[in-house]
Amino acid sequence: MSTLTAAAIVLGAVNYGEADRIVTLFGRATGRVSALARGARKSQRRFAGGLGLCAIGTAALRERPGAELLTLERFDVTEPHPGLGADVARLAHAAYAAELVGKLCAPRQEEPGVFDALLAFLRLLDEEGASAERLRVLELALLGALGFGPVLDSCAVCAGDRFEGRPAVEIAFRWDPDRGGAVCVACARIGRPLSAPARASRRRRWPRPAPSAWPPISTATAAKRCSRSSTTT
Ligand SMILES: [Zn+2]
Repeated sequence: MSTLTAAAIVLGAVNYGEADRIVTLFGRATGRVSALARGARKSQRRFAGGLGLCAIGTAALRERPGAELLTLERFDVTEPHPGLGADVARLAHAAYAAELVGKLCAPRQEEPGVFDALLAFLRLLDEEGASAERLRVLELALLGALGFGPVLDSCAVCAGDRFEGRPAVEIAFRWDPDRGGAVCVACARIGRPLSAPARASRRRRWPRPAPSAWPPISTATAAKRCSRSSTTT
């Protein structure tokens, strides 16, 4: 039986039996996995730093024959983020992010873009505190990384078939998220007008495939950016 070592983030853990824990991890190379951590409530040696919510570290995992649960041999915290538990808002945002990733990602499906987005989010959450705007950026980043992002380069309905040979920049669009994003006026029935600069702005801000190096965003700055990005003509 081989042991796999992977960078991982703890999405959650529940007690099992008298000394064990069942841990849900999101590994960069493994995706979401559940693993049995034997003796986790007692062993400080194999689980140095603990298995707290959104702990970031290196997990040593082993398959168990015939069992769905992996075995977590050890988990070493590589990035202590003491700020995550500093206040209720940080804790709530961390819990929400972990739940979102856990719900959106299928088990054992490698999603490095999602891992990078979550990691970047947690680092900024620790350093700068909770920000509703950054939470929205994370949601958009996850959707983008998982292929659910809006179409912004062309028409989400006709994919340019009704442009009559003209480039997309000359086409008027409307914003219709129910139909997949930007929709050309020939296809659009409803939606707010979306100018070319607004489309370009949203493309720039859409973190695809993943925002491995998000700039820090203060609430005031984010509010200004949101205001600018919704500019339409
Ligand atoms: Zn169209």
